[in-house]
Amino acid sequence: MDFQPTERQQYWRDRVRNFVQDHVRPAVSTYHAQDAEGDRWKVIQVVEDLKAKAKDQGIWNLFMPPRNDGHHHVEESFEFEGPGLTNLEYALCAEEMGRIGFASETFNCSAPDTGNMEVLHRYGTRDQKDRWLAPLMQGEIRSAFLMTEPQVASSDATNIECRIDRDGDDYVINGRKWWSSGAGDPRCKIAIVMGKTDFSAGRHAQQSMVLMPLDAPGVNILRHLPVFGYDDAPHGHMEIELKDVRIPATNMLLGEGRGFEIAQGRLGPGRIHHCMRTIGVAEEALEKMCRRLQAREAFGKPIYKHSVWEERVAQARIDIDMTRLLCLKAADMMDKVGNKAAKQEIAMIKVQAPNMALRIIDNAIQAHGGGGVSEDFGLAKAYAHQRTLRLADGPDEVHARSIARMEFARHTPLPGEADDTLSSGDMGATR
Ligand SMILES: Cc1cc2nc3c(=O)[nH]c(=O)nc-3n(C[C@H](O)[C@H](O)[C@H](O)COP(=O)(O)OP(=O)(O)OC[C@H]3O[C@@H](n4cnc5c(N)ncnc54)[C@H](O)[C@@H]3O)c2cc1C
Repeated sequence: MDFQPTERQQYWRDRVRNFVQDHVRPAVSTYHAQDAEGDRWKVIQVVEDLKAKAKDQGIWNLFMPPRNDGHHHVEESFEFEGPGLTNLEYALCAEEMGRIGFASETFNCSAPDTGNMEVLHRYGTRDQKDRWLAPLMQGEIRSAFLMTEPQVASSDATNIECRIDRDGDDYVINGRKWWSSGAGDPRCKIAIVMGKTDFSAGRHAQQSMVLMPLDAPGVNILRHLPVFGYDDAPHGHMEIELKDVRIPATNMLLGEGRGFEIAQGRLGPGRIHHCMRTIGVAEEALEKMCRRLQAREAFGKPIYKHSVWEERVAQARIDIDMTRLLCLKAADMMDKVGNKAAKQEIAMIKVQAPNMALRIIDNAIQAHGGGGVSEDFGLAKAYAHQRTLRLADGPDEVHARSIARMEFARHTPLPGEADDTLSSGDMGATR
């Protein structure tokens, strides 16, 4: 165990940190001005300019897994590579990106594209990669991931009702999806859709994932869903009707019935990315809180000298540092023993990070008084976004459930301890 970052970890983190400081932060006001002009669902030019700069400097597609991760054929994927950072190295970069809302896009490292690119990278055929992965990696197009449905409790993905029916050389898709993030962006050209190809197969063998071009006839975007009133333009979160959408059979990913397998692979690293960015968000909120508290006086002394703030600031520092360590541990385990063995750590950080950030942002809002809930300090929007992360990629309770189940499995009753009424009753059935 060594808590000192290596030279390579520092090298990549500092390049991202410096780029955010030198180029992204100074562009924030331009971003807001361009965002406020004209159409909501448009390309924001300053992001394109920053993307060109980051790409030129080679700080681009940093999330792409290293070549020897054992999941794909080296010869085939040679041209679909990022700089080969480990999860641990990338985690440190993602924290820096998290400090400013649009920063991750400037490095071509934003959700849901990152998860979708990983799926294409791991499971895509050569043709699928040429057609969709190449332009995604160039930052020319964007993508969406369509799993959640309005009619069913989608945190249990076995409930999904969307149909994917084989018809000759095609598949025909029928269903309704919502919370399809990124589908508002005019460059969003491709969606990975989860649906069922066989309603009679085993619980986890009914689902498949297919590549669906967003301009296919029958893809009808019904509305965008605001988050506490924020439209999150230009990418947004959409409700989409899929009505007799016809796609070639070659757009199937991995094979019929393998949707769950892909979902497991997709969400592991993606969760860590969100969590590390969340730590950056929390650092930013703490920084704003400290500055504001020292800048104003109330009841005869600077606000920061009222002891309640010492306690809140100290707790924030403790919580951020504990959360970062857990996140880095999860990332390191993913690198060393794989996503599957790191399952409990990934679930723990997925619950911990947004809850930690929400407490700190809430206190930062309080420290700013009325200003805190306005748009002036970015705290209200940060709160809204973090609140969604207690739901997106699975609600807290689902992750808590898997953490607890692993814990229960580790500590089964010793001989003679088991209560007959329990082991033959409900508890037994849920294990
Ligand atoms: C801003 C945002 C962006 C999103 N982006 C995407 C996207 O790009 N693509 C996509 O497919 N989806 C996306 N989602 C959807 C998200 O993944 C789902 O909302 C989430 O998985 C929960 O599913 P659900 O909304 O159907 O809630 P339900 O499944 O109906 O669950 C409702 C509540 O039930 C409770 N619950 C569920 N299981 C348990 C349990 N085991 N124990 C106790 N309580 C439980 C939880 O409190 C949960 O919040 C996004 C959501 C948001 C808010």
